[in-house]
Amino acid sequence: MAAETTAPTPATAPQGTRKRILTGDRPTAKSFHLGNYYGTLANRVRLQDECESFFLIADYHMLTTRMGDLAEIGRNIRELVIDYLAVGIDPNKTTIYLQSLIPEVTELFLYFAMLVTVPRAQRIPTLKDQLRDHSLKEPTYGLLGYPILQAADILMVKGDLVPVGRDQESHVELTREIARKFNELFGPVFPVPDALIPEMGMLPGIDGAGKMGKSLGNAIFLTDDTETVTRKVMGMYTDPTRIRATDPGTVEGNPVFALHDAFNPETAEVSDLKERYRTGRVGDIEVKRSLVVALDRFLGPIRERRERYAADPKKIDEIIYSGSARAGEEARRTLHEVRAAMKLDYFGL
Ligand code: ATP
Ligand code: MG
Repeated sequence: MAAETTAPTPATAPQGTRKRILTGDRPTAKSFHLGNYYGTLANRVRLQDECESFFLIADYHMLTTRMGDLAEIGRNIRELVIDYLAVGIDPNKTTIYLQSLIPEVTELFLYFAMLVTVPRAQRIPTLKDQLRDHSLKEPTYGLLGYPILQAADILMVKGDLVPVGRDQESHVELTREIARKFNELFGPVFPVPDALIPEMGMLPGIDGAGKMGKSLGNAIFLTDDTETVTRKVMGMYTDPTRIRATDPGTVEGNPVFALHDAFNPETAEVSDLKERYRTGRVGDIEVKRSLVVALDRFLGPIRERRERYAADPKKIDEIIYSGSARAGEEARRTLHEVRAAMKLDYFGL
């Protein structure tokens, strides 16, 4: 752990030997789906044993494009934490914290905003996507600066590794530039973090589209009950060229098998189904039924834990508060170093 000191701590020295990870999620109304689990949550559960993990609940980031969706935000924040706990995030290993409880991040954001030119911010590819997705003609000042706020989130806790999807790689690149620039100007305060991009591809949606997505209407959510999962799986897109169970079918690119591969631990059963599918010796219905069983086995314990945590909202709030207190200590320590490095500590603050 970095000692409290007025001199900037060398970027190579702090935090003990374990790498520090920062990931975050916006508290939107929708819960996680199987694609999120496969692409990021499973990895985060694993990483919490190897690394010092910080999970940011990014409520400030809701303001960039979702000013109209704030009415339920308190409930959504709790639901997000319940999801984390239900999939196996352990608050004793991972610091779960709420962005707006650490207002120091806005101060760091201000300093970083001075290090990024407007054209540089405009060149970030996600900006175009955001404008398109939200039918905006022009970004607000805040939306333009959102990757800079993300840099402040990451560097506030001196994150070394940032697990993100490929779509957010450009934000980590900006964070690296900011860290380097700050260190060059004021001394070595920040690590230069690396993006940790998952190797696996995207899990397809139940409609066979490229990816399962929250807003695409093609997701199986962690909160779906058995009946909903059954309905969604039985209606899944498979191999469109296959009419009868005796027709040879295609396994590759077939979303039913992609889900089997990702969530059915009975690998012998999956191999057998694939073999029979290819040679026209099994019907879609049997393959889907066995997927329903596998998904139910996977989701059952998650649902049970969800229910248990949902019944104890006080405990959820305590987890948020204590994680935020812990992240707040890191934030104050970092800002102390930042102000000292920038000579902004002239009144001994
Ligand atoms: P939205 O439709 O609102 O963009 P989403 O379903 O794409 O939502 P995000 O919140 O954008 O989910 O992504 C959260 C994380 O989950 C990211 O790390 C992203 O790479 C990962 N992820 C999202 N969808 C999939 C998927 N189908 N397969 C694997 N990983 C996914
Ligand atoms: Mg997405």
